[in-house]
Amino acid sequence: MSLIVAKFGGTSVATTDRIKNVAQRLVRMKNEGNQVVAVVSAMGKTTDDLVSMCEALNPNPPAREMDRLLSTGEQVSMTLLAMAIEALGVHAMSFTGRQAGIQTDGIHEKAKIVSVDNERIMKCIHDDGIAVVAGFQGIDHNGDITTLGRGGSDTTAVAVAYGLGADECQIFSDVVGVYTADPRVCPHAHKLDEISYDDMLELSAAGSGVLQMRAVEFARKYNVVIHSRSAFSEEPGTLVKETTMEKSVITGIAHDTSEVKVTVRGVPDITGVAGRLFQVLSASNVSVDMIIQGTAADGLADISFTCPAKDVATAKAALDELLPELGAQEVYVNENIAKVSLVGTGMKSSPGVAAKAFSTLAEHEISILAISTSPIRLSVVVGKDECAKAVQCLHTAFGMDVEEIFEENALSPEEVEAKKNKGR
Ligand code: ADP
Ligand code: ASP
Ligand code: MG
Repeated sequence: MSLIVAKFGGTSVATTDRIKNVAQRLVRMKNEGNQVVAVVSAMGKTTDDLVSMCEALNPNPPAREMDRLLSTGEQVSMTLLAMAIEALGVHAMSFTGRQAGIQTDGIHEKAKIVSVDNERIMKCIHDDGIAVVAGFQGIDHNGDITTLGRGGSDTTAVAVAYGLGADECQIFSDVVGVYTADPRVCPHAHKLDEISYDDMLELSAAGSGVLQMRAVEFARKYNVVIHSRSAFSEEPGTLVKETTMEKSVITGIAHDTSEVKVTVRGVPDITGVAGRLFQVLSASNVSVDMIIQGTAADGLADISFTCPAKDVATAKAALDELLPELGAQEVYVNENIAKVSLVGTGMKSSPGVAAKAFSTLAEHEISILAISTSPIRLSVVVGKDECAKAVQCLHTAFGMDVEEIFEENALSPEEVEAKKNKGR
């Protein structure tokens, strides 16, 4: 008998029919002799809709209230799923983050799990039931509800699997596993049978929405093997684990359309100016990603950086206020950008990746607006309209294309479009 933690994402529980399918799958797992704990996300776009409603009322909502609001989405799906399982004649109980003993720190909207007390989940499975846990939420030391950052149900699943000492942590979504690139953007991408924690972490950090970065971090720290697979097929997916496999130079390509590029023009080329600029951004809690300083002409230079689109209003306001002190000319925001990243632990020992990437982009007449590197990642910023083309041509150039074309097996055309446009 195995103890399986099975997490189902928003698309997999988007409708009552899909919840019924998930219930059937969980009951099948149980009837095969396993103990089963499910973790669920909110139905479909529920969390986005809750965010929009809040934005219509208050552009700066109190974080505590925001978390209370967002946590309601998972409470709907968990109860519906428990009811659907009961309708199949199997005992099921749903648990909020609090009831599942998920204790977090007090940082609202991106809380970290500090401990999991599995007592009630254990009791449910020992009573021959299926436990259904609300993903994405926990409780802080004040007893207030916290959430774990967008996509955080993945982290709930890994933490619950670790806490229970589960034999398997299966994360079900709408694709068969982790591909060499988002298959909806790069149809010739292929599914990886396995991927190392390091490569997966870098792909998630660079914008691959398939697994939340925190979940991979948690899994690496506690050695939890994640099986990323499809809710719409029985095919085996991708194992995320410590692997000793021979490393290929590039494991995959990630893209991220959720950032913007901010340029402060005409900054006097004087020591200390950059320090002051980034100090102000940091004090305003703007997460700066890539930084580009142009060469100075006539004693003036441009300083550019990328940051999440959600931080841009704050960044612009802080910098506009700083312009007179710096003696700089203007702040310009380019929202039409995308970051494309080549990732691979094998890159460390292979020179020439940058040369090949840049010449490939040049051959396809794609201009590079910014560059950043780490030992296992090379990122370029390109125009948003050229993002898909950049991912595709790099995928081909680094020999990752397969002949077979990715085919949708479950989603509606509207859902596919929403996924393609999702800023990560
Ligand atoms: P869920 O709602 O189930 O958590 P997500 O939307 O968060 O699912 O993650 C699945 C989506 O991730 C896929 O639909 C796919 O478009 C996208 N994706 C991005 N990069 C990759 C990749 N490398 N491999 C597979 N899917 C990816
Ligand atoms: N419902 C949350 C979100 O949309 C958490 C999750 O889906 O994992 O981000
Ligand atoms: Mg997800």
